[in-house]
Amino acid sequence: MDRPLNLDLGVFEPETYASDGFKPKKRKSDPKNWMRNIVKKARCRSRLRKKVLMREVDIEDRRGKHPGHYMKTSYETRDQMRIFFKSLPARHSHYSVNKNPSRLYMESHWTITSLYERFFVYFPDVTKENATLPIFRKIVNTEFNIKFGFPRTDRCDTCSKFLTRICVAKNQTPYDEEGIDELHNQHARHLEFADIFYRDMASAKRFVESHYALCMDFQQNMPIPVTRVNKEFYLRQMWIYNFGIKNVKTGRTTMFLYSENFANKGANENLANTRFERIYVKYPVPGHSRMPIDADFGLIEAKKRRMEQIFVPSQVVTLVKSARTETPFDVVFVNVPLTDDLCPDENPIVTVRDYKSAIGPLFKGRSFGGFDLNSIRELRFVGGSKPLANFSERFTNPPREMSIFSDCIGDGALEELIANALPMYEDFLPIKLAKVKNLEILVSHTILAPQVWLNKL
Ligand SMILES: [Zn+2]
Repeated sequence: MDRPLNLDLGVFEPETYASDGFKPKKRKSDPKNWMRNIVKKARCRSRLRKKVLMREVDIEDRRGKHPGHYMKTSYETRDQMRIFFKSLPARHSHYSVNKNPSRLYMESHWTITSLYERFFVYFPDVTKENATLPIFRKIVNTEFNIKFGFPRTDRCDTCSKFLTRICVAKNQTPYDEEGIDELHNQHARHLEFADIFYRDMASAKRFVESHYALCMDFQQNMPIPVTRVNKEFYLRQMWIYNFGIKNVKTGRTTMFLYSENFANKGANENLANTRFERIYVKYPVPGHSRMPIDADFGLIEAKKRRMEQIFVPSQVVTLVKSARTETPFDVVFVNVPLTDDLCPDENPIVTVRDYKSAIGPLFKGRSFGGFDLNSIRELRFVGGSKPLANFSERFTNPPREMSIFSDCIGDGALEELIANALPMYEDFLPIKLAKVKNLEILVSHTILAPQVWLNKL
């Protein structure tokens, strides 16, 4: 075997080490000697290089095969680890199926280390010497897509009821297998309905160009001013509403921001005057209503939590605009610009119109023909025909035509009425006196000089 050469000791030749223990005689460095070392080292390196370049057959992977340094975790043990991971009680989540379809979730109290401990319970013959934690970690991180802790979920009422009933039935009437099975089936159907909504939403990304998928919802109300003084907990704050509309296909989101004295949170505010050939409205199953736009709201909420204080509306606008760095949210004001001095700035403004009174007379009345509105999962509006509820056969509820409007009304008349609808609000909405008093107390904790928006209350 070639003796490894050290260039730093280039002035020494290996043979200069005397065998009898005497100090080697130091040779004077001469350029010829130095050159010889360089050549020798280069030759040594090029031998390996040549082998690789020529793809010589005798090169083999000898890692883990050298006598003396045996591989601690054998291939058999590694396979046992894989069997262990496959058998884990991990499950899919309803919420992240679009982004990461193969990801599995486990209860949050698990960690890789605690799973490692559990592994030896499953395979008692294996010892820690024969199955190392780094290999265990490497296998779970590179070959399996398991996340610890479920994405944040609000526990669904219906799910919770079913699980309790199943649990009770199992304890009280364990012999009634049919009854228990029926409960299981009912719960599975509920989950299946929830899943249909998520699958529909996931497929929206593959729509053709002329089709759009919009997802819309209100964000949790944002209170201002946020002063972090302790009496803020029992004082009423001013609400800032945010109604977001997300284009599921492009990922662009528009946020309609307004203060509680600019407009209400009602049907008129959500009614977009759009001209589509067909509209499909799909409602999520209550309790399983996490939508793509919630991720956007989450960004705003997270950023808001990091903010120490929020005094003026413009800070909320900046917060919303800067919450997402990649394709920032578009901000639209409703009725009145949500600026500190209520003067318009570069953000567009929409006016809420009173569609309800404009088209109200056309409605047949409050009853929808004995229809249980809660049973509607989907609605289809196509120009020229009546709206159809539950149009697809994926739900157990039968499809039904709805006659919302009086029969004599044509599409043209409806359009005209919508176009001529009057603005909903002539002035600011009143705010309760108690709230104004509370706000005055809070404002004293802010560093505001001009409080135009507050004076307008
Ligand atoms: Zn549920």
